[in-house]
Amino acid sequence: MSDQLESVEDFRLRARTWLADNMPKLGEMPREGTEDPEEQVWVNARILQKKLFAGGFAGICFPTEYGGQGLTPAHQAAFTDESVPYDMPLMLNVPSLAICSAMLVDMGTEEQKQKFVRGAISGELILCQFLSEPSGGSDLAGLLTRAQRDGDTYIINGQKCWSTNAFAADYATCLVRTDWDAPKHRGLSMVIVPVKDPATHMQRVSMANGSREFCEEFFSDLVIPASYLVGAENDGWTVGQRQLFYERQAVGGGSPYTSGRMVETGRRAALSPSDVARQVGKADDPAVRELVGWAHAQDVVNEQLIKRVTVGMTSGEYPAMASSIMRLAHAEIPQTKQDMVLEIAGDTAVTGLPEGPGYVKAIGESYLMRQGASLGGGSSEMSRNMISERVLMMPREFAADRDMPFRDVRRGR
Ligand SMILES: Cc1cc2nc3c(=O)[nH]c(=O)nc-3n(C[C@H](O)[C@H](O)[C@H](O)COP(=O)(O)OP(=O)(O)OC[C@H]3O[C@@H](n4cnc5c(N)ncnc54)[C@H](O)[C@@H]3O)c2cc1C
Repeated sequence: MSDQLESVEDFRLRARTWLADNMPKLGEMPREGTEDPEEQVWVNARILQKKLFAGGFAGICFPTEYGGQGLTPAHQAAFTDESVPYDMPLMLNVPSLAICSAMLVDMGTEEQKQKFVRGAISGELILCQFLSEPSGGSDLAGLLTRAQRDGDTYIINGQKCWSTNAFAADYATCLVRTDWDAPKHRGLSMVIVPVKDPATHMQRVSMANGSREFCEEFFSDLVIPASYLVGAENDGWTVGQRQLFYERQAVGGGSPYTSGRMVETGRRAALSPSDVARQVGKADDPAVRELVGWAHAQDVVNEQLIKRVTVGMTSGEYPAMASSIMRLAHAEIPQTKQDMVLEIAGDTAVTGLPEGPGYVKAIGESYLMRQGASLGGGSSEMSRNMISERVLMMPREFAADRDMPFRDVRRGR
């Protein structure tokens, strides 16, 4: 049998036919399994992922040993283009596939890859991330959730927060402290924890815009098998850095492990500056036209930036931390565009238009999440720190606690 890869064009044509025969058209997915619309999204995502898996189109860039297709980013890009008219399980891209599974392929044991990576690609499992804690997400190495080894198990106590869509997940990659005598970066371990264990109390967080995607979790003697340790005990910082690399890559728009593209329809459609300008009757205003042109230029620059940084990281010209550049642009550009759209819409961002579609009103709602872009996946300030220290090799930020045993570090004073 030839081990030559199928050409991208042949793959594209095969994907086009398969998608037409098997996937529901955008918005035409029948309701199944639940009456709750929020839960429906997740039920649908699992059904669609299982379809992709059965058809040989799931995990296009993941290794075949773990359920993927072993193909290239060019094959993935072709599939994404072809999939635009169809309902796709986009909710599973981040963090389940592009962050948690990608990290496990690099750092997990064979058993973990077979269970969790194959499980995620086949649509059986959903993975999420338990990293941030109430004491602060930027200082990730200062986390307080502890895991204690007990024979063939670990016992976990502590609290995580801001876990996106954890309520819909089955397992989480969870960073914990396993050695309190080591300096903060050297006493951490990455483990996989079941999300729905009775020893984990989960609460959903209601946001100002009505979203309940964030969760917080409280662990009271949660017991997990020691075989759920990812990498070596106390080497969790290395594993966590790998996961954060995939997070920056995915959030920045440069991941080969995301499949499908969000298509702006209905209420979301009006969120582009040009559409808003047309809807509010300002399309001929020279000042507004300048803003629209600027927004378009930013989109083009961002697209080129993602390509340039991805090529640089792949060739080794740039260090892996260069993913912070994409991550930073992903926060700065959409935030500036959101400000611009709000300015163009004026009061109608809140009141809506007296006639016509209520799209414009969605701008006000959307603006409430503006700041999330410069926090999720690590804050913009932390991205700037990383670019200066790890890409431009400028001096490192001072940290008094870097080499101190963690139990001696002063906290909460
Ligand atoms: C949309 C979204 C999704 C998220 N999903 C998840 C998830 O799935 N799992 C998860 O574990 N977490 C998640 N988070 C949490 C996210 O990782 C944290 O919000 C982020 O790391 C910042 O941590 P913090 O909110 O505790 O802010 P803090 O760390 O308290 O920071 C507060 C402010 O101080 C600044 N700051 C802090 N330290 C420095 C420094 N050394 N130099 C310069 N400035 C500094 C920060 O930039 C920030 O502006 C998510 C957050 C968002 C908004």
